[in-house]
Amino acid sequence: MKRIGKNKCPKCGFGSFDTEPNQYQILEFIDGKFEKIKMEGINKKDLRIFCRDCGSEIDEQESILQGKVILKNE
Ligand SMILES: [Zn+2]
Repeated sequence: MKRIGKNKCPKCGFGSFDTEPNQYQILEFIDGKFEKIKMEGINKKDLRIFCRDCGSEIDEQESILQGKVILKNE
């Protein structure tokens, strides 16, 4: 059984996250919160976060609350 780290996508195990299409921002889940590791032209408050690999939407609030990456609607 493959163990996926709490800072990775729960679905595919990938460790980087994108924000909503049209924005260019790359996130990693570090020390219990999403850190922006790269961003360009961000001008929006409520960003949605997606796994860069499988495209699953991540629940930012819930992830921060639980200290691990949580998928939305699961
Ligand atoms: Zn994924």
